[in-house]
Amino acid sequence: MPKFLCLIGLILSGRKITEGLFSYIKIMALIFYNTASRKKEPFTLAPGEDFVKMYCCGPTVYHFAHIGNLRTYIFEDTLCRTLEYYGYKLKHIVNITDVGHLTSDQDTGEDKMEKGALRTGKTVWEVAQFYMDAFFKDWHRLNIEEPTLWCRATEHIKQQIELVKVLEEKGYTYRTSDGIYFDSLKFPRYADFARLDVENLRKGSRIDMGEKHAATDFALWKFSPTDKKRLMEWDSPWGVGFPGWHIECSAMAMNYLGPTLDIHCGGTDHIRVHHTNEIAQSECATGKPFSRFWMHGEFLRLGDAKMSKSSGEFLTVDLLEDKGFNPLDYRLFALTSHYRNYLNFSWEALESAREALKSLHKKTDPLMGKATKVESEEAKKWQNEFKDAIGDDLNMPRALGLLNSVLKTELPEGEKAALVLDFDRVLGLKLDEPRKEIAKKPDANAVDDSAEIESLIVQRTEARKSKNWQESDRIRDLLKEKGIEIKDGPQGTTWVRK
Ligand code: AMP
Ligand code: ZN
Repeated sequence: MPKFLCLIGLILSGRKITEGLFSYIKIMALIFYNTASRKKEPFTLAPGEDFVKMYCCGPTVYHFAHIGNLRTYIFEDTLCRTLEYYGYKLKHIVNITDVGHLTSDQDTGEDKMEKGALRTGKTVWEVAQFYMDAFFKDWHRLNIEEPTLWCRATEHIKQQIELVKVLEEKGYTYRTSDGIYFDSLKFPRYADFARLDVENLRKGSRIDMGEKHAATDFALWKFSPTDKKRLMEWDSPWGVGFPGWHIECSAMAMNYLGPTLDIHCGGTDHIRVHHTNEIAQSECATGKPFSRFWMHGEFLRLGDAKMSKSSGEFLTVDLLEDKGFNPLDYRLFALTSHYRNYLNFSWEALESAREALKSLHKKTDPLMGKATKVESEEAKKWQNEFKDAIGDDLNMPRALGLLNSVLKTELPEGEKAALVLDFDRVLGLKLDEPRKEIAKKPDANAVDDSAEIESLIVQRTEARKSKNWQESDRIRDLLKEKGIEIKDGPQGTTWVRK
């Protein structure tokens, strides 16, 4: 062969190798947006580690989880599944907050659990168990993978006390008449994570600071009131009381995963206070970075409003089922938008997701049982594109698009089926099972006014507390008009429809 032809051949094959190498590198790189740096960064294991240490903030079990909360857990599930798809092993911890989460971020207000007990007439322990069971049911209905470990705050009081002791020994705490507080001024990087304008924040909120030295200080341990026994309280070196909400996550995460995690997740609402405080107390205690990656899911919105447990207006998986939706319709709906974008909920959008999932099943059901291997160059190309999509900061909308495209190809059925099953390891839509149709409840469109009733009962309890008998009688009469009978007992107020 003439020399110049050899040279061209070499150049061409060299280019092919380089292109191949580039696409290999691109595909192999798993890239996540890190809230800490506000940048997309390649993810790799920390040197010497052989599994990913991941911690996700879990539910506060004083109420049902709403589908907004569940959007965050679906995002975290796609993260776990993507890491697994890339061959990583995980130690994935999710906490259950069953004490200490107050109604206000300013360390004032009621404990949400005690509020739940008052609302339902159950003990706090019963409330926790009831909503935990409901939460696990939702989790499984949405096909979210089981974490390595669930951990309850009330089962880790010792670890929380130990962590507060370390902070105290290192001089990061001070005492007020209602608790032990973290001195945020002693952590100069306090504002960095959430890019907070602390100057203004600290100036602006002097009024409701109580005895705190700075508005950004937060409770590590709160004392029980002297005039009444709390429903949940423990002994501590500082007096009987209960842990602050933030300390639970630091204590449990470090107890199971060590001082530095690989990935810490939650909803975006946690960036400013909860995660900022977790970082401050953990890093002051250990002197090490608390987490290498921070990932946050954006909110599900209902109209213009965020969906929140405390507003009383929230939608649950049970309600979706009552209206004849399969929970996986909601999972598909959640996957249609990127986790870092707001997602607007509407029944019409959910109906479109239901139709999309039905249509997927129509195409995939006939393929099931026929899967061979992903062998051809074309099938491998689709697989690599999928891997690239999920590895690009969990681009699930693109991943879904690729699934649809594969189903339109002329690939042999065996390979198509293999690709569907392979992609569904991450999408989690249970395409390997026939779709379960859910029967709509006959009265599903009737207005559910239980949240309103519960809110009226809380208002009446408040009125009674402040001895405003006129108001409490007015609310009782109003409830009566609605056909609601209430009973006041030692554990709070209960209600039934007559
Ligand atoms: P909670 O049970 O209120 O402590 O919240 C559990 C998780 O849901 C946290 O990670 C929150 O950040 C997240 N979350 C709360 N509201 C929403 C929402 N409307 N959309 C998405 N995630 C939410
Ligand atoms: Zn947390």
